[in-house]
Amino acid sequence: MQTEATDPLVLVVKRTGDVRIHTFVSSFAAGNIANATHIVETRNQLVLVDAQFLTPYARAFRDYADSLGKPIERLYLSHRHPDHWFGLGAAFSDVTAYALAETMGFIQDHGEASINDHWKLGDLVPDRIVVPKHAVSPGTETIDGVRYVFDLVTDTEIDFQLTIGLPELGVFFAQDLLYSGTHLYLTKHLDRWIRVLRGLLLSDYEVFLPGHGLPADKNEVARNVEYLSAARQAIAGGLADDAFKEFLLQRYPERRCPGIFDIYLPRLFGGASDY
Ligand SMILES: [Zn+2]
Repeated sequence: MQTEATDPLVLVVKRTGDVRIHTFVSSFAAGNIANATHIVETRNQLVLVDAQFLTPYARAFRDYADSLGKPIERLYLSHRHPDHWFGLGAAFSDVTAYALAETMGFIQDHGEASINDHWKLGDLVPDRIVVPKHAVSPGTETIDGVRYVFDLVTDTEIDFQLTIGLPELGVFFAQDLLYSGTHLYLTKHLDRWIRVLRGLLLSDYEVFLPGHGLPADKNEVARNVEYLSAARQAIAGGLADDAFKEFLLQRYPERRCPGIFDIYLPRLFGGASDY
C-alpha cells in the first residue's frame, strides 16, 4: 500500500444552473485503488457521497469540501467496504451520515474489527469508527432543490449497495457497481452484476460516477459488462488465483490499480468470505 497521500485528483464533473458535481479521486499509484468520492454542491449546501479510505485522502477530501464555503448537509455512505467508510472517522465525525440499515448494522457490529484488521496501515487508518446514524431507504427526496432517487442493489460487488440518481441532471452515483479505468473487485455474483449494469445502459442517465477511478459514461459501463463477462467465462473455464489474475492483466493492460487483485482473490477463490 502506498504510504503517502500522493496525486489526488479533483474535478468539476458537471455544472447545471446552481448545481455543481465534484469528484475527488485518491491516488492511482502503487497499491492505492483510486477511491472516488463526490460532492453535490447546490445553492446553499453540500451533499457528499462516501468518505475515502486512507486518512490523508479523507482529510484532503474534507479540506476540498470546506473550501467550497458551504455547510455539509449530509454524507451518504454507499456500502460497507472499508475503503468507503474508514474516512468517516478520520474527517467526517461531525457530519450527518446516512447509510442503508444493513450498512449501519455492519459497521456497528464489525467496524472495530475492520479497523484492527488494517493495523499494518498504521496512521493511514483512523483510530475509531463512526457509525452512520441515519437510515436511507429506496425512494425519492428533494434536497435544496435537487431530486434524489435512492435505490438498494443486492448481491453484486457487495451484498447491499446504495445507488443515488439525480434524474434531472442525468447523473448516477453507481459507486462500486462501476470501476472506471481500473480493475474490478470481483465477487461470485457476476451474473446479477452484469444484469444490473445492462439496466443502467438502458437508463436515461448520462454521467456515471464510480467508486473507483474517474467519472464515466455509458461506454465505460459497457466496458465493465465486458470485463465481468470475460471474468465469468474464465472462471467457468477453470482459471483461478494467479492464473486468473494473469489472464485479466493481459486482457486489460490499460486498466489501473492491480492492487485490487490481492484484496479479492482470497475471497473469490479461497472462500475467505463472500464479499
Ligand atoms: Zn470500493
